[in-house]
Amino acid sequence: MTRITLPRPDDWHLHLRDGAMLSGVLPETTRHFARAIVMPNLVPPVVTGAEAAAYRDRILVAMPEGATFDPLMTLYLTETTDPADVAAAAASGLVKAVKLYPAGATTNSHSGVRDFDKVRGVLEKMAEIGLPLCVHGEVVDPAVDIFDREAVFIETVLDPIRRATPGLRVVMEHITTKDGVDYARSQGDDLGATITTHHLIINRNHILVGGIKPHYYCLPVAKREHHRLALRAAATSGEARFFLGTDSAPHVDPLKECACGCAGCFTATNTMSLLAHVFEEEGKLANLAAFASENGPRFYRLPVNKETLTLEKTASAATWPAKIETGAGPVTVFDPGFPVFWHAID
Ligand SMILES: [Zn+2]
Repeated sequence: MTRITLPRPDDWHLHLRDGAMLSGVLPETTRHFARAIVMPNLVPPVVTGAEAAAYRDRILVAMPEGATFDPLMTLYLTETTDPADVAAAAASGLVKAVKLYPAGATTNSHSGVRDFDKVRGVLEKMAEIGLPLCVHGEVVDPAVDIFDREAVFIETVLDPIRRATPGLRVVMEHITTKDGVDYARSQGDDLGATITTHHLIINRNHILVGGIKPHYYCLPVAKREHHRLALRAAATSGEARFFLGTDSAPHVDPLKECACGCAGCFTATNTMSLLAHVFEEEGKLANLAAFASENGPRFYRLPVNKETLTLEKTASAATWPAKIETGAGPVTVFDPGFPVFWHAID
């Protein structure tokens, strides 16, 4: 197969930032994707329905000419989030999920949750109205090794929250371990899991062997090879619980290439080419539509896009800019480290 046409894909976990960065990176997503779950970890975070509406307006103003992209907004869960505000924002159709960051887990997560008892009312309201909770699944206890933080989170935080809140619909975001895959598979259809493009391609050696590679550093950090293989098997399986969330996360190069570099891989530009490559390698091209275009809308109870995207394999390698020049500075595009012959036909 050298040509494949999918329903236009969606990105169920995306960072667009704000201001000049938003304007610079938005076209990289709107070129191929119809919708995206937009992360709320701005500074300050998007906490209320009113703040989400204002952020959505700024995204729409930044849209490239002719784009038909629908940003799906999320709220940043804090210990003072008002359940009634969440319910109103969901009822209006504006907000499609609430995002849980354990305080301190990743970029701009200082306002996240420390005491889960304080968000019990919000979670119960969300269970009642069917609004998904998107979870950054890592503990932040300094005593827990960074490579174990996802597995420990599942056991000590995620599973207890789900048991305490029956009916709560949860997305395990950007799972990076076999533990995450196994847990997702052990649960019912009120649990989904997103997988990024880069976690299908790199393991922790890519970050650390032969010199530190700041553009491969993200959170959750890439793990051992057997975890990467479990993620590839899950993503390409066609199983409804697994869907694409790129976690494409732009930082300007000076903030990546420094003594304390930011976490995030920028994959919006080349994700569809890379996914076609990965799915072909696994002999599962026929399941790419499920992963990138069908399973996500099903979980979020939205229609699959009617428009399509065609990917074509040619003899010449696909090319993309090494960096996206934004008004905030240059953003390096994820380099898979091998040639890719699949092209998205815009
Ligand atoms: Zn993220």
